[in-house]
Amino acid sequence: MLPELHLVAAARPNLPKLAALWHALAEGPEFCKPVLVHTGQHEDPAMFGVHFADLGLPAPDIALGISGGSHAVLTGRSMIACETVWKARPPAAVVVAGDVDGALAAALAARKLGIRVIHLEAGLRSGERDMPEEINRRAIDAISDFLWAPDEATAARLRQEGHAAAAVRAVGNAMVDTQLRHLAAARAKRLPRGLSRGGYGMVTLHRAANVDKPERLIALLDGLTAAARHLPLVWPIHPRAAAQMKSFGFVPPTGVRIMPPLGYLEFLALLCRARLVATDSGGVQEEATALGLPCLTLRGATERPITISTGMNRLTSPEELPERVAEILKTAARPMRPIPLWDGRAGLRMREHLQVLLEGEECRAMVA
Ligand code: UDP
Repeated sequence: MLPELHLVAAARPNLPKLAALWHALAEGPEFCKPVLVHTGQHEDPAMFGVHFADLGLPAPDIALGISGGSHAVLTGRSMIACETVWKARPPAAVVVAGDVDGALAAALAARKLGIRVIHLEAGLRSGERDMPEEINRRAIDAISDFLWAPDEATAARLRQEGHAAAAVRAVGNAMVDTQLRHLAAARAKRLPRGLSRGGYGMVTLHRAANVDKPERLIALLDGLTAAARHLPLVWPIHPRAAAQMKSFGFVPPTGVRIMPPLGYLEFLALLCRARLVATDSGGVQEEATALGLPCLTLRGATERPITISTGMNRLTSPEELPERVAEILKTAARPMRPIPLWDGRAGLRMREHLQVLLEGEECRAMVA
């Protein structure tokens, strides 16, 4: 019987990364049985369900249904649910992606049961010690057995932090694999009525530091209103941002077309034809950089410095946003230089590593 490999999906940003591995496994030699485990952190069909179909993933094999509550409640309940599943059905290894609470919970539960944990998208650091995702990514890296980094500089940092060289691999950017797989289909989609190629900017905002404090959120809404005087903006709004706007009694910014959260393909269809994007999303910074799309990141730091060093991404404040948008509009689009390991082959590199790990294990078991 093939050893099981459990891929843990908790929230929206996990899926494009796991999809890269899923497809590489499906298209390569059969040496393990991939099993999709959905913790339930994002369970709303708009935030999660539609993405399975868009990304060519099957429905989860195991759905834990854990959502809502504080960080501690969500993490604790997800840990208990993972432990229950893995006590009854222990996989050969567990892959967790990114930095959400469900990923941390799964890593902790698996590691304490003696199941090997692999962290996909390891080594990202923003240096913001109060950021919930930064706490999660440091904790996941600390307990994982194998660390898959998106680029060489990130892998080098993990080794400098003291991780064994054999545990760390620069496999490449899984998000880019998924973007390349779906780009043609996204480009073939019609733009929504009223939007034309290069004639609008995209917005995404959901980080706690941006939407949970009324003074910060109103500054952002004011910045968006002023920026939209230069370029019409489209904002597929994250449920967290929508709920906070409502709870503070704020009205949507003028000149900004608000939409519900989009499926992966619909979002990529809009992103790849936008003039720029203003965001606080980690994944969107990478997606924009890979597309050669100017990105304005509404944060004080990023865990993805490679997006800045390529010249595609710039950190900015709500107050500076309108000026930055105007600057981009005056600048001719720059040709994009290819980024090493952002090449659509991260899935293959992950698969090759897994094959060595799992088949090596099988051989050892046979000798014993
Ligand atoms: N995304 C999407 N629909 C949207 C907004 C974003 O499919 O309306 C996708 C986007 O393409 C990227 C991912 O969601 O792949 C990023 O997730 P998010 O911004 O929620 O999380 P982060 O990357 O900040 O952890």
